[in-house]
Amino acid sequence: MAEWIPKTELGKLVAEGKISMDEIFATGKKIKEPQIVDRLLPGLQSDLIFIGGSPGKGGGIRRTPTRRTARMHRSGRRCRVSAMVIVGNGNGYVGIGKSVSTENRVAIEKATENAKLNIMPVRRSCGSWECSCGEAHTVPIEIEGKCGSVRVRLLPAPKGVGLCVNNEAKKVMRLAGIRDVWTKRFGESRSRSNYALALFDAFRKMNIIRLDARPDAKEKEEVYEEDVE
Ligand SMILES: [Zn+2]
Repeated sequence: MAEWIPKTELGKLVAEGKISMDEIFATGKKIKEPQIVDRLLPGLQSDLIFIGGSPGKGGGIRRTPTRRTARMHRSGRRCRVSAMVIVGNGNGYVGIGKSVSTENRVAIEKATENAKLNIMPVRRSCGSWECSCGEAHTVPIEIEGKCGSVRVRLLPAPKGVGLCVNNEAKKVMRLAGIRDVWTKRFGESRSRSNYALALFDAFRKMNIIRLDARPDAKEKEEVYEEDVE
């Protein structure tokens, strides 16, 4: 990896080791350099959402990592390739990015950078009252995400249930560090890119919502104080 010369204020803080990922999100700072994520989440992994498809042998669609689109030109076809990449550390941080290029490799590289810039924390907990293991293995509450006409609901599941979701969602959950979850989906479900984005929409909402049902320690204190008054 080439040496990184940070361009932003935040980048400089990160390079000097003065700020952590949690602090970045606690203060609402915006990440504008992908290297920040590389530096703070060293175990980062990436995966492709298979947004493409080409007619396969014997009917049906063969799913492919990138989507090709063509427009006609006087001299023939002009192809463009789009890719959707997710990154995550498998432990509470995940991001998604999309990009378009004329080349496969470039589209994937740019999508990976965008995914890093879109990284966000994922709230996890033991979640389900049927389970009281106390580990952060599922979503803390039932929550719904939306993108286009795709809606998906995530439900907390007890330990050992596993990921009761389709293959694309499995990739997202693994990188996010969610090990047990149930999902329900509604609406037009063929679009895999909208489906993945709907999952991220659910994560985003989870970060905003107050978790009254299963507050974590800090929030519990606040609730208690309110009760005293
Ligand atoms: Zn549990």
